[in-house]
Amino acid sequence: MSDPPVYWCICKKYCKGSRKQLKAYSTWWRHYRDADEDEKRSIQLQKRSDAFRAFIQSIAPSVVQNGPSDDLGQDLVSLFSYV
Ligand SMILES: [Zn+2]
Repeated sequence: MSDPPVYWCICKKYCKGSRKQLKAYSTWWRHYRDADEDEKRSIQLQKRSDAFRAFIQSIAPSVVQNGPSDDLGQDLVSLFSYV
């Protein structure tokens, strides 16, 4: 049997900056929505789910084309090894 989906968050407001496991997407979204812009990127990187992989795949072509010209691109390149 497969495990229920799990969402990871690392926001400061609710998770106190430590990596936490959230059971519901709605909970994760509330954390994400209330996070600062730079936190949102970290949270995106922590959350590994089908939606997250879809997000990576949706922007991957532009990263490949333009190269990792910014921090987000570099983070994504390092992610490709385990997404
Ligand atoms: Zn959180």
